[in-house]
Formats: sequence, structure tokens, C-alpha cells
Amino acid sequence: MTFKYQPETLAVRAGQQRSQFNEHSEALYLTSSYVFDSAAQAAARFSGEDSGNVYSRFTNPTVSVFQQRLAALEGGEECVATASGMSAILSLVMALCSAGDHIVASTGLFGATQQLLGNIMSRFGIQTTFVSQTEVDAWDAAIRPETRLFFLETPSNPLTQIADIAALVAVARARGILVAVDNCFCTPILQRPLDLGADLVVHSATKFLDGQGRVLGGAVVGAKALTDEVFKFLRTAGPTLSAFNAWVLTKGLETLKIRLEAQSAKALELATWLEAHPKVARVYYPGLASHPQFELASRQQKSGGAIVAFEVKGARQEAWRVVDSCRLLSITANLGDTKTTLTHPATTTHGRITPEQRAAAGITEGLLRIAVGLEAVVDLQNDLDAGLALI
Ligand SMILES: *Cc1c(COP(=O)(O)O)cnc(C)c1O
Repeated sequence: MTFKYQPETLAVRAGQQRSQFNEHSEALYLTSSYVFDSAAQAAARFSGEDSGNVYSRFTNPTVSVFQQRLAALEGGEECVATASGMSAILSLVMALCSAGDHIVASTGLFGATQQLLGNIMSRFGIQTTFVSQTEVDAWDAAIRPETRLFFLETPSNPLTQIADIAALVAVARARGILVAVDNCFCTPILQRPLDLGADLVVHSATKFLDGQGRVLGGAVVGAKALTDEVFKFLRTAGPTLSAFNAWVLTKGLETLKIRLEAQSAKALELATWLEAHPKVARVYYPGLASHPQFELASRQQKSGGAIVAFEVKGARQEAWRVVDSCRLLSITANLGDTKTTLTHPATTTHGRITPEQRAAAGITEGLLRIAVGLEAVVDLQNDLDAGLALI
């Protein structure tokens, strides 16, 4: 199916297997275990000779539809679904790295990913060196004989810095290092890291794949030889995606392309408006010509995406004034929803790192992040304008 159909067709069709009832919409199989026809079949299922279902910690037909559909969209051979984005990253590292291995990762990673790699995995003998997202030479310089994995996320949150996936793959390939890309912000609709040579894609399906802020989920996509290792960890350790969440996410994938394209178009319009606003000091959006990596972003992504960050003229007090005056935008740290959200990173998502680390990461007190949803841009502008007028 992967080669024959366009993404929007795959999004509504890929992976579906109809039951004996020939349902049109994907069925939801809420069952923890499966019945065998005979003792011999049970034995064959447990030994792996027969690939049928045994227990939903291992496989479930509803989860399998989501996995096949996302694999088709990312252009990957296989997908392993997980309970959350963080459990996808945990499973990937646990499956593919061992004590003594080393990881190179970007400084701009999602906060929990930084904690997991920097503070938790290090207790188990897996060390991580964090380097700048945008400096390919720094990744090369950080390589050690025991480096096993490059882990990156592009665009970064919240400043939308772009990592050059193809360039980092070239560095990693030459040294036999795996490359994993967190593709949460772009989704396969705007960026396909596997096409650029990455070995694995990870997702927080909680964000744009669900797209309506309902459930948590995650996934690892890539060549079967690698995802098989992730699956072996998952079926034993158990951070499995629930059937219900898989069903919600499968239906989320059906509208992913129209949502992402609409949200990205609205984000560009809003970013353009913010850039011209007298109370705004700076806008960070990969779809604007003023973005320092506009050319790379235009090459690597189909559009700028739905995340816009901007600095108000002022500091915390001024930024909070804008947040507190909003009547439409939701004050929440989540993103990827149909409802537009507004976040003050310095006191929320990036509140626990030191002021020095924040300064080094470019997260100022005047910075705000918007995850654009599906409302009319004029309504978002009016809401923000009322707050900006108070500065
Ligand atoms: C939210 C997020 C995660 C973690 O996903 P959960 O589903 O919340 O566990 C990982 N990476 C990025 C880029 C995210 O935005």
C-alpha cells in the first residue's frame, strides 16, 4: 500500500482489517487476552511459530491498525505503538542501548526527554552529551568510540531551531551510529525523517496525531530489524498503547493532513501579523523569511508548522499581562490541539532549569509560545492584540 497511495489516502485506509461483521469504520477490540482453538495452537502462539494474538500487552488488533497506518504515513517498515511519547523514547533507548553506550542529543530537546537521557539513563551507565541543534560540527566532535545514537527533535521547542537531518545522518552513517528523530512537531505530513536517512522516528501521538487533546500515546517507526528490538522490550516491560487510545489515534490520523495544513497556514498568518506588531520584539517561526534557518526549513519541511514563539517588548510582567488578558487562547502547556494554546515557557515548561541554562537556551522572560489550532486567525489576533495593547 505504501507505494501506491498518497498520504491522505493512507491516512484513512492503511492498516484496516475487517472482522467477520465487515464493519466500515475500524473496530475497537477491548480484550486483554485471546482464545486458542487447541492446546497445540496455544503452544504455537507462545513459541512464536504462529504469529496470532496471545495477550494485549504484546499485540491487539486495534493497536495494530494504528501501527500500520502510522508506519505507512512515515514511510517506515514497521511501527511499535506505546502508552505515551515518553515511553516511546524510553523503549527505544532501553531496546537499542546498553550500559557503557553513549548518546549525542540536542540541547533543545523536550524537557522530559532531557531528564530521561541526562538524569535517569545516566544512572544505568548510558551517558548523553548535549550539543547545539544547529551546529553539525559539534555533533561530530561529541562522538566517542562508544557512541551508539544521535537523538534529535526538529523544529525545537519553543524556539523552532532546525536540525539538518540529512547532514547529521551523513555524520552518523560514517561512524555506524543510529539516528532517531522526534517528529512530533511536524508529523509525517510536513517532514519525513526516514526519507532523509534517519533510522528511527519517534512520536508523542498525544499531540498532533490525536490532534484533539484527548488521549496519550506514542510510537517508534523504522526498519523491522530495529523496531523488533523495541517490541521485545515493550512486550516484556509493558508500556503498551491501550486499545481504546489506539482507536482514538487511528481516527485522529484520518484528519491529520487537513488539520496540519490548515493549522500551519494559520500559524504563518499569525506569525506574519506578530512580526509587524509594535509591541512584539521578535518572532520565531520557520515559515518566515526572517528565521535564521529559513532556507533549510523550506527544504526539509513542507511548511512552517503550527508552533509560533515570540518575544514581547518587555519581560515577565509584560508577557504575563498578555497571557492573563486572553479570553480565547487556552493557558496550557499542551500543543497539537484544535484549540489554540498559549504558554510562558520560562515559568512553565522551562521553569525547572536554572536561569543560566534558560539564558543559554535563549528562553527569555518575555517569550511566549503559541500552538495554533483551528480558530479563525482574526479571533486569535483580536485576543492577543487586547493583551499586547496593555504593555
Ligand atoms: C509531548 C512531547 C513528548 C512526550 O510525549 P508524551 O506523550 O507527553 O509522553 C516528547 N517529545 C515532544 C517533542 C513532545 O512535545
